Amino acid sequence: IEIIGAPIFNERNMPKGVVLLLYDITHLKKLELMRKDFVANVSHELKTPVTSISGFAETLLNGAMHDRDSLHHFLTIIHDESTRLQDLLEDLLKLSRLEKDDFKLVKTTVDVNSLVDEVLPIITQGAEQKGIALRTDVENEITFEAEAQLVKQILINLLSNAISYTAETGAVNLKVSDEGENVHIRVSDDGIGISEEAVPRIFERFYRVDKARSRNTGGTGLGLAIVKHIVDVHDGTISVDSGPGEGSVFHVYLPKNEKASS
Ligand code: ADP
Repeated sequence: IEIIGAPIFNERNMPKGVVLLLYDITHLKKLELMRKDFVANVSHELKTPVTSISGFAETLLNGAMHDRDSLHHFLTIIHDESTRLQDLLEDLLKLSRLEKDDFKLVKTTVDVNSLVDEVLPIITQGAEQKGIALRTDVENEITFEAEAQLVKQILINLLSNAISYTAETGAVNLKVSDEGENVHIRVSDDGIGISEEAVPRIFERFYRVDKARSRNTGGTGLGLAIVKHIVDVHDGTISVDSGPGEGSVFHVYLPKNEKASS
């Protein structure tokens, strides 16, 4: 708390009391801490791939490039790490657009079936590689007012997480239903699940339940933070039912915002 005080005097200029202004700056301090934390996290996340790219390039230049196997191996690492950097930068840009003060949604009438048709080709390869059965159950002819690219991003992020955090031969389901005022998106998996303590934190930027594991799966640590922002800017809600070893179910409700028909 910040306190500013000033004395007040009576008509004979004798002190009569004081005025105290108490500013509650907890919120500001918290924001400042979060900002510093975020900068530190971003720097760390960028540093890891950059260090590895420059290290392996140097090793190649120092002679390793004359050995075919090393050449291939080190170039693969350099390529993977550059992809990680690219993903991270793209996710940071997505977040920063959503956080802008003058952010405006560009809403159109979204047809859920065609949106899911666009998303599936992006997701299926990863599912097939792991032998995961991906099932979809999308009610016909759901339309609502939203920013299509952003809703697509919700589906991509939730489905790719479901695939990442589910063992080989597991199952992932996407269900979209029309529930009157809302569209209900339900993404479920029978994967590793999330503990009760971790559930409230998974929407924080760079929070990962298991750091080493999540980095290996290639996630940026920003996927759910982006999903939460998108849901918020659409005035929707998101919740999770999960437990360790019990799989996870993510529920997103987005208001349909139908134009009033006259
Ligand atoms: P990441 O890139 O690490 O996946 P996210 O923001 O998408 O970042 O998710 C944050 C964390 O939430 C993940 O690191 C993981 O620990 C946990 N998580 C997200 N989705 C699931 C899921 N379907 N099953 C289990 N854990 C999950």
